[in-house]
Amino acid sequence: MSARWITGSVLLALALTACSGKAGVPPAAPYAAPGATSAGDPLMPGGGDGGYDVQHYDLDLRITPGGRPALAGTATITATATQALSRFNMDLTGLNVGKVTVGGVPATYTRTPGKLVVTPPKPIARGRFTVGVAYSGTPRAVNDHTLGRYGWIRTGDGIFTGDEPDGAHTWFPSNDHPSDKATFGFRITVPSGLNAVANGRLTGTSKSATSVTYSWQARDPMATYLAMVDVGRFKVRSGRTPGGVPVYVAVDPAVDADGLAALYDQTVKVTDAWAKLFGPYPFDSTGAVVDDAPVQFALETQTRPEYVAAMAAIPTVVAHELSHQWFGDSVTVTRWSDIWLNEGFATYAEWMWGEREDPRDTVQHQFDGRYAQTRSDDLWKVPPAAPGRTGLFGRSVYERGAMTLHALRKKVGDQRFFAILRAWTAEHRYGNATTPQFIALAQQVSGMDLHRLFQVWLYDQGRPVNW
Ligand SMILES: [Zn+2]
Repeated sequence: MSARWITGSVLLALALTACSGKAGVPPAAPYAAPGATSAGDPLMPGGGDGGYDVQHYDLDLRITPGGRPALAGTATITATATQALSRFNMDLTGLNVGKVTVGGVPATYTRTPGKLVVTPPKPIARGRFTVGVAYSGTPRAVNDHTLGRYGWIRTGDGIFTGDEPDGAHTWFPSNDHPSDKATFGFRITVPSGLNAVANGRLTGTSKSATSVTYSWQARDPMATYLAMVDVGRFKVRSGRTPGGVPVYVAVDPAVDADGLAALYDQTVKVTDAWAKLFGPYPFDSTGAVVDDAPVQFALETQTRPEYVAAMAAIPTVVAHELSHQWFGDSVTVTRWSDIWLNEGFATYAEWMWGEREDPRDTVQHQFDGRYAQTRSDDLWKVPPAAPGRTGLFGRSVYERGAMTLHALRKKVGDQRFFAILRAWTAEHRYGNATTPQFIALAQQVSGMDLHRLFQVWLYDQGRPVNW
């Protein structure tokens, strides 16, 4: 995404600790306390929740595009309490909540802006627990005056969800921050004649007189912003790449009648090419979905990037979104200020794909053209590893982020550079990571002191010189 953030206030997470008893008297048992009310991410004030770690979301959703309500469902969430919990929050905006259960027993709840606050009948001990939330309503997209519209969005014949950075909780209760990844199961019931596409593998369909149910399983950990449901009429092509990865590509024929074959081929080609360069493809399927959503972005939704038709037709955009399967989806940011780890890497992949297609359009040429821009405020004023809220999806994160990688590649040489990328995708596969972890790994793999290079390229204002 290329839209930008408004400046927001910084909210510090409250560290809630169990109190100890009288001096010298150890507490008889850990006291249950409320979970933190945010993940403590300064760029996403109030987003995410503390005190638990979600393992799995099971979303059973009946979606009737254009209906009132458009959505009725049950979210069954399996989580691990990281402390004894007297109550906890989940992110949820809008929608009507019916019954909430914890461990199958009815719980009480309240709503605060953006949150569902759940109080179980008795405190939750540390360890595994389940929450059930029955809910319904017509989700509303987030309308941000700088980022545009995202979240749950109506299309011509259905609905589409594009959730980065925090649109997921417009359609399911969640710990809506990338630091809490989980596996997902989707059971989506739609009116007969419509199709429902989600992440991972299609594991079953069943029909009634008036509806069809599609079951999808995303068996590898996934950040909430990468979860996707797209409902509409689609032409579908499925198969397997020569490298052995199952493929599922769905295109709305009303917007892209002839694009299916070309997008399928490009998806296959890029998935296998990047697997050779970045390490094994991380997930159990690859693909794409093209719909007529009124948005201006393509999004790297896990295993199945989403495109509008104009974006799907650009080979370097497909190369960008699929590179995110390694950089962003498998290895996910721990906090939003490290977003260059997603977008700088994907932009660099885009440049490399451009060079493959046209050897005259080299990565060096991409770097040189930007480096020559002596007065480009966005590039030189905003350090990519400290973009603030306004620069979260700005040029520096994408382009100076990619330039940082090119500077690194020239410094350490091709062999070490690609060894660093493969070590990164292997070491943090399915997990979360930060910029200091990348710097440490680059120094370890190269055996070189790269402190100044990363300082001037990632953290300092001004056009880097002498690295
Ligand atoms: Zn991207």
